Amino acid sequence: MKAKALVLEKQRELSLRDIDLPDQLGPNDVRIRIHTVGICGSDVHYYTHGRIGPFVVREPMVLGHEASGVITEVGSHVSHLKVGERVCMEPGIPDPTSRAAKLGVYNVDPGVRFWATPPVHGCLTPEVIHPAAFTFALPDSVSFAEGAMIEPFAIGMQAVVKARMQPGDVCVVTGAGPIGLMVALAALAGGASEVLVSDLVEEKLAIAGRYAGITPVNVSRESLRAAVDRRCGEDWGADVVFEASGSPRVYDDVLACTRPAGAIVLVGMPVEPVTFDIVSAQAKELRIETVFRYANVYDRAIDLIAAGKVDLKPLISETFDFDESITAFERAASARPHDVKLQITLDA
Ligand SMILES: [Zn+2]
Repeated sequence: MKAKALVLEKQRELSLRDIDLPDQLGPNDVRIRIHTVGICGSDVHYYTHGRIGPFVVREPMVLGHEASGVITEVGSHVSHLKVGERVCMEPGIPDPTSRAAKLGVYNVDPGVRFWATPPVHGCLTPEVIHPAAFTFALPDSVSFAEGAMIEPFAIGMQAVVKARMQPGDVCVVTGAGPIGLMVALAALAGGASEVLVSDLVEEKLAIAGRYAGITPVNVSRESLRAAVDRRCGEDWGADVVFEASGSPRVYDDVLACTRPAGAIVLVGMPVEPVTFDIVSAQAKELRIETVFRYANVYDRAIDLIAAGKVDLKPLISETFDFDESITAFERAASARPHDVKLQITLDA
């Protein structure tokens, strides 16, 4: 089937054009008319750099993986979704018979096929076919725009699940980018009494600071350690520190700001290998967790938004029409400090 899509031809070259896409609806699949797609840092990185680690754009690829839409057709074995239902989609499709999937950690299935990770096409096109098992109904109270925010929020959810938080935990999130904010909001929903969010960019911290329970820390003016000491007591530390900046310079702070026997959760992805002081971590018996995408959190993420416990709406900075997709990507690549999430609507 030929369909119009936002295609990354190669590094730094986007076009909105017709491209051949799969059209085979399997018995366990649904067909979805896409409504809203968020632009993710990874989409922008493929556009500007042509690769992320081992994933290299070698042939034209449709971008986009943060999507919501409406079901237009269901496969013969699908019973939990129906035509007309509003949905959002988990963009990673594992092999359900893989060893990782059988362990419940399908996000680290080496065979997973993830939208807009080369060579798999993404969802910035009017219609997609997707497994019903990775398609989730949206309650009426959750908008399409919020539905398309479930994907990045799921990373925050995964980080909090991996942290094994306790009620009342004091948390730190290093990095106030979109993922840092998602982690902070998930930590509050997961029982944190307070989340200190650190960054160098005042505009980003101002957005974070609008949420009750988040304390912004501008590390160009005050050390993170001083802010944590003020909250947690001299030379103690936060219960959980989430690293969400990907900055290679942040790890000494992360180690210094975690309390003895506390947890570090590594969410940000540094581009190059980094130095990490293992003995400092050992001396406090820190637990170190890592996050790669997410597994089994989408339904909980939707429930938290539907319940009003998490409000992602203030993080949607601007919405573009499908025809303006390239403009939207250029805007995202320019990384304006006030922009958190840019979205594209296909079905306005
Ligand atoms: Zn994303």
